[in-house]
Amino acid sequence: MTTERNGAHWETTAIDGPVCGRLSEDIEADIVIVGGGLTGTRTALGLAEHGVKVVVLEGKSIGWGASGRSGGQCNPIWRKTPDELRARLGSACGDRLIETTLGSADALFADIETYGIHCDAEQTGWVQASHCGPATADLERLATAWNADGADIKLLDRAATRAATGSTEYDFALFHPRGGHVQPLSLTRGFARKAIEFGAVIYEQSPATSARRADGKWRVATAGGSVRADQVILTTNAYTDDLWPKLRQTLYPMVSIALATKPLSGNLQKTILPDAVTISDTRRAIYFARYDRDRRLIFGCVGSDDTNPAAFGGVGRLTRGLHKVFPQLDDTGIETTWAGRIGVTPEMMPHLHEPEPGVLAALGFSGRGIAMTSVMARTLVRKALGGSEDELPFPITPVSPIPFHAITTAALPLGPPAMALRDTLDTLFARK
Ligand SMILES: Cc1cc2nc3c(=O)[nH]c(=O)nc-3n(C[C@H](O)[C@H](O)[C@H](O)COP(=O)(O)OP(=O)(O)OC[C@H]3O[C@@H](n4cnc5c(N)ncnc54)[C@H](O)[C@@H]3O)c2cc1C
Repeated sequence: MTTERNGAHWETTAIDGPVCGRLSEDIEADIVIVGGGLTGTRTALGLAEHGVKVVVLEGKSIGWGASGRSGGQCNPIWRKTPDELRARLGSACGDRLIETTLGSADALFADIETYGIHCDAEQTGWVQASHCGPATADLERLATAWNADGADIKLLDRAATRAATGSTEYDFALFHPRGGHVQPLSLTRGFARKAIEFGAVIYEQSPATSARRADGKWRVATAGGSVRADQVILTTNAYTDDLWPKLRQTLYPMVSIALATKPLSGNLQKTILPDAVTISDTRRAIYFARYDRDRRLIFGCVGSDDTNPAAFGGVGRLTRGLHKVFPQLDDTGIETTWAGRIGVTPEMMPHLHEPEPGVLAALGFSGRGIAMTSVMARTLVRKALGGSEDELPFPITPVSPIPFHAITTAALPLGPPAMALRDTLDTLFARK
């Protein structure tokens, strides 16, 4: 079956995906997963390892969604402090989430090692850089709070920040030594291949069109067939359609756009991210950068249209951002630009739902999916195998549509240019 392309740079350097057919018959399974991104494939792998008969239905190709377009940065903390998490989730669930979060990056890189996934993984650390004075104060507060709970975040002064990034754009940053980066499409395909080795069955180009209860089981149908199973797990994130009522309205499908330069010369590599750290900054329109395996620089920011990175001036903002952060790049050519959807929840934390007995849904990673989809996948496996909610790091919450979702979503494309303007004003008027 031909792979459905998503236009991202990662398609040119990824390992091969598994060979999967289209669902064309009625079959039985213990659990059916809808969505073949990082969440779905890692969950399938965990379940298959436990001997569960698991089927994955992917509407396009494995990794076609955000997972195969991602910046691939493993950013292993939340935007909230541990105390804010405890206040929101209760102290027991908050403690579980904090502990899991602190181990999330090491767990991901250990998975990659254990399963032998060739995804150009480098655990070289993540630099979280401040673009203005108030953001510096926020980052200091975040680091102090997480370090009090056992993180090992370092505060970088102006000289250290500039040395780590190779950019004079930033005067302060946090350094998260456990962070790193992966080839996200290879990671997703690697999880899928490993899941198949353990007995999972994956179908591509098989969008699920309905999920209904019948004779004590769930029946998930596609155009060509169906899967009858005891449980359904929905892992469709920002590409969620109307398969499950109101699920799509629980998050905003924000857009992120990215580019890949041509491979940088050895001299440029010495001045730009010289230790191959990843970087993301505190702008509302978030600039992020990292190297790929051939030392192309991958640079991204928020965008307006997931099918057209140039919409609303996106590519212009992207390339201006690239040259602002790394002016030494000069005329280094750009090979590819692409766009994809990020599932953002109002509180910037993922949601775990159980809308009916036997149905789980996990989505809304709010730009932290590389580390956190694996955390969620382990949670889904635990719950699906009969674990109680008291053991989970995420609370199970009702499917609550965001008020005025349709109007806000329609206005989303206008957001990035406005965010970029606010960021520029910050850098002009808010002291560094
Ligand atoms: C450009 C970009 C840059 C990013 N950078 C980073 C980063 O650096 N670090 C980070 O942590 N996160 C980043 N993210 C976010 C991260 O990639 C996501 O959080 C993560 O990949 C989500 O994985 P997922 O499996 O939940 O969803 P997805 O990978 O989006 O998978 C969902 C899948 O569900 C399928 N689907 C939907 N409906 C159906 C249906 N009815 N039937 C069958 N299949 C269906 C879709 O085809 C899709 O393949 C970025 C995202 C983008 C777009």
